Amino acid sequence: MFSNKEEFKMVFLRRLEMMYGKRFEESTVRDQYHTLGNMVREYISQDWIRTNERSRAKSSKQVYYLSIEFLLGRLLGSNLLNLGIRDVVEKGLKELGIDLEEIEESEADAGLGNGGLGRLAACFLDSLASLNLPGHGCGIRYKHGLFDQKIVDGYQVELPEQWLRHGNVWEVRKEDLAIEVNFWGRVEVSNEGGRLVFRHTDSEKVTAVPYDMPVIGYGTKTVNTLRLWSAEPSKTFPKHKSVMQYKRETEAISEFLYPDDAHDEGKILRLKQQYFLVAASVGSIVRAHRRQYGNLSNLHKHVAIHVNDTHPVLAIPELMRVLLDEEGMSWEDAWEITTNTVSYTNHTTLSEALEKWPIHIFQPLLPRIYMIVEEINERFCRGLWNKYPGEWKRIEDMAIIAHGLVKMAHLAVVGSYRVNGVAKLHSEILKKREMKQFYEVFPQKFNNKTNGITHRRWLLKANPQLASLITEAIGARWIQRPETLLDLTSYASDRSFQRALAKVKQQRKAILAKRIYEQTGIAVDESSIFDVQVKRLHAYKRQLLNVLHIMYLYNRLKEDSSFSIYPRTFIFGAKASPGYYYAKRIIKLINSLAEKVNHDPQTNEQLKVIFLENYRVSLAEDIFPAADISEQISTASKEASGTGNMKFMMNGAITIGTMDGANIEIFEEVGKENIFIFGLTAEEVLNYYQNGGYRSHEYYHHDRRIKQVVDQLVNGFFPDAHDHFEPIYDSLLMQNDEYFVLRDFADYAETQEKISEVYQDREKWMEMSAINIAHSGHFSSDRTIQEYANEIWDIHSLI
Ligand SMILES: *Cc1c(COP(=O)(O)O)cnc(C)c1O
Repeated sequence: MFSNKEEFKMVFLRRLEMMYGKRFEESTVRDQYHTLGNMVREYISQDWIRTNERSRAKSSKQVYYLSIEFLLGRLLGSNLLNLGIRDVVEKGLKELGIDLEEIEESEADAGLGNGGLGRLAACFLDSLASLNLPGHGCGIRYKHGLFDQKIVDGYQVELPEQWLRHGNVWEVRKEDLAIEVNFWGRVEVSNEGGRLVFRHTDSEKVTAVPYDMPVIGYGTKTVNTLRLWSAEPSKTFPKHKSVMQYKRETEAISEFLYPDDAHDEGKILRLKQQYFLVAASVGSIVRAHRRQYGNLSNLHKHVAIHVNDTHPVLAIPELMRVLLDEEGMSWEDAWEITTNTVSYTNHTTLSEALEKWPIHIFQPLLPRIYMIVEEINERFCRGLWNKYPGEWKRIEDMAIIAHGLVKMAHLAVVGSYRVNGVAKLHSEILKKREMKQFYEVFPQKFNNKTNGITHRRWLLKANPQLASLITEAIGARWIQRPETLLDLTSYASDRSFQRALAKVKQQRKAILAKRIYEQTGIAVDESSIFDVQVKRLHAYKRQLLNVLHIMYLYNRLKEDSSFSIYPRTFIFGAKASPGYYYAKRIIKLINSLAEKVNHDPQTNEQLKVIFLENYRVSLAEDIFPAADISEQISTASKEASGTGNMKFMMNGAITIGTMDGANIEIFEEVGKENIFIFGLTAEEVLNYYQNGGYRSHEYYHHDRRIKQVVDQLVNGFFPDAHDHFEPIYDSLLMQNDEYFVLRDFADYAETQEKISEVYQDREKWMEMSAINIAHSGHFSSDRTIQEYANEIWDIHSLI
């Protein structure tokens, strides 16, 4: 039905009339979207079935990627592209007077994640399928994804997101594959013929119903599965609760995504979500394995379970429970299988983000799982005692359970066979500092897998203009072998290529400018430098440094009539966790600054500040292609990897950044001539933390520019904010500027000045841009996933 446009049109019209009982002329965009989505699903259904059959027939090892977040974004456009039918569909629809883009935009943006971690999971699914690897996602089908952000009077307001309001064409509900998950209750222990038997009784049951979504590879017949679990009341109602209360509590488990990407939310519901995901996923994995192999003794030979951060780490005790209590294995055998099945990715070293659960919450909710974690802990500590006799302190520090808390990262390291960080620096910090003591005990477990992004969504789909230009120059093989983008290097100094590249960037800036105008009513100068910082709002990401620098530029323009700058448009996009009050104040600060700067006729031809509300995947796809400058200015050592940095680079933006996370690897790829690095190094930062020696007051008193902008936070410069920015002022001076904003200010300002200068040498700039694109292939998630496949999971292409 997609082989030629005539056939497509015929099927489309027939299907539309059948589905909606109305004539095409009366159909809405949403009707058209659903019709097209259903056609695509039907089109791939045979390949979906065959992918499963093929891997079963080959007894190939499969990986299950467990993640509490999948930040998918819209799927129609990328599915059409991956299937190679976008052109036929676009042309066919056009002849019917329909704009495909309009249909694509009517799709809800599936935002089942907060930011980088969830988007990584989505990029990984795309790469797994595109590389024909047998790998599936397991997550939660939240009824509401990450909140919708509105900006009202400069403040963030959160609204519930409603991606399922009009249904989800991509999912298939599979009620027959539901799994029962047990909470609460007690554990009965009995001795049956010399063997201890554990029974979890009086539990409250929740039914986990899977919704399967196809994950379609690019240019292949591989269709993997993303299985999202929905929580529903079980047929066995608890006796001690009203039906209403039970129903409400059950459905709450898959109702909301926690809108927090770094702080440990100490909520019982969150622990429920985590165990729900894990019990349902492990349950369906072992069911499929038993069906094919009869028992679980060879599970680790055919299954790898990967836990994305610590949220799904209860997969370790849950798998132990299945092997011990359901299979009747010995502890030793169960442990051998479990610790050869589960691998773990660490995403952060921020101490506030390391999950720790109070025993008084954990134990009653998951009594059997708690017993198993206790046993794992005891055996682990006994082993430590043998290795380090008498070293109480060390054992206390490393224990999985200590001081009334269960430490999920410790459980993850002890119970998995591989532990990886997400960029070289991050993995080194794990080994040398954060997890030093674990590295001493398990050196063979630790490894690095630098993050990546799918170049199919972030270049081919998001920036078709650039993709065409690249293909004209070097052919289309980069789409399946992104490392061959390196062929562009020979075009970097080619004048006509540079001109064409500049033209593409200009087109993309015009598209974003239009969107900015529609959203904010502000007309930006399309020939100005688009300087962009889009990411979650966090103190360590230092949006504040960017803001203080803009304030300085504004002050200078106001005070010194001989001073001028090359026109700049500073663009921000960021959501703050609803309970993260400091971050919300920074959002207000950006908006207050925008208000001031954009309406000042003395400066607003040279300076504009834009805050784009509701930053999300679909908006990001319009932002990255339009950026000239990528702001990656986290306090060194704090950003584990970053992936936004890679999306910018791939779209030809030049990075201004610290030597942090994957910025370091971008620097290594493009060379110091093609990136703007500034600020403290990770080592310097960590030294300051360890030995002291930083006094933010000194930078405040000795740099007039700094004093002025910091004072302006509280002296009425922002008339609409009253004392709203006092906590920001205090963080910089009273709390000694934990993130070294003032320390890095001068270097940042100087580097920005240099950027303005280099930008005006258009040939040089476009050459830099081309070199960045050429080296971005290394940051394709295809490279990352191939490394996971080879070095951690031991899985192989099905073709
Ligand atoms: C890539 C991406 C992120 C991660 O950005 P970082 O700059 O790496 O923090 C967050 N949100 C969305 C919508 C993204 O696409």
